[in-house]
Amino acid sequence: MSIATETDQIVEELRAADKLLLTTHESPDGDALGSLTAMHWILEQIGKDSVMYMSPEEFPLSHEYRQMTFDGLLGAPPEDIDERVVVFLDCGNIDRMPVDFLQRDGIRILNIDHHHDNTRFGTVNLVVPQASCTAEIVFDIARELGAEITLPIANALYVGMVTDTGRFMYENTTAAAHRMAAELIDAGVDTHAIYRRLFEDLPFRRLQLLSRALRSIARYDDGAITIAFLTRADFEETGGLETDSEGVVDHLRAVEGTKVAVLMRELLSDEKRGCSKVSLRSTDGTVDVSRAARSFGGGGHRQAAGLTTGLAPDELVATLRERIAEQLLP
Ligand code: 5GP
Ligand code: MN
Repeated sequence: MSIATETDQIVEELRAADKLLLTTHESPDGDALGSLTAMHWILEQIGKDSVMYMSPEEFPLSHEYRQMTFDGLLGAPPEDIDERVVVFLDCGNIDRMPVDFLQRDGIRILNIDHHHDNTRFGTVNLVVPQASCTAEIVFDIARELGAEITLPIANALYVGMVTDTGRFMYENTTAAAHRMAAELIDAGVDTHAIYRRLFEDLPFRRLQLLSRALRSIARYDDGAITIAFLTRADFEETGGLETDSEGVVDHLRAVEGTKVAVLMRELLSDEKRGCSKVSLRSTDGTVDVSRAARSFGGGGHRQAAGLTTGLAPDELVATLRERIAEQLLP
């Protein structure tokens, strides 16, 4: 089915629904949070009863999102959940929102996303892999719905765009993305203020964590794989939160000769003891890191993917090297 047809279907569904519940993937990033709040305000503007759901465990959010506002956010399903159409934003796989209340018969799910490996778990799916971010899709939907791009909506969409495009530098940064950014700026977005909020004014512990990650760097296969590790001790000794390692992998991908950059960090919660979160980044597109991630039960984009694993670092490195070598072969 074409994207235009999928868009029409989703817009029709949104118009027809009275009550909605919006959600996104666990450990939400800027695109997840921006798309979620922007869609919520768009739906409220056109007279819908919209609520947002995120697990209370997601809070506090990563430092850079501290000034985002979430009026109408629920940490538990509402009593009228059976009457609500559920809208997923930026979530490639329903397992990335592990909640029981979505596992019921007759549930209507609208799945709006840009991950090419989206499992199309919705009743109706709008998956646009060429969109730089889910915020770009939400922007198009707003237009179709005739909603005004108010300043809060513009700010939220801009956060989604600037984070998912790596500040307009990743390979997904199209002319369409720049055009949308221009429209958001026309709607009043203060790009410098958002830049400061997202990328500067960092708690010092972040730099301490980064310094530990940089000290741990190992390189394999003539530097094609550059990998860093953060242990529980690194987090405990710096006072770092799990979200404080956001962005570390970007330093690794910048190193000459690197094809794949990897950050492996031990998870801190008691129930996840022994498990690690792995972030994968492909520098020049020769390796599809989402393929490697999927082989470990994760997923993502060709150039940015992730997974959670119970493997020890040396086991992960050995397996990952094999999976990447398969792709590096001519
Ligand atoms: P990050 O490394 O920043 O956590 O994630 C990079 C990309 O990979 C994001 O697009 C994210 O949605 C995806 N991703 C990260 N972790 C997982 C995971 O455990 N499962 C899936 N399917 N995708 C993931
Ligand atoms: Mn996204």
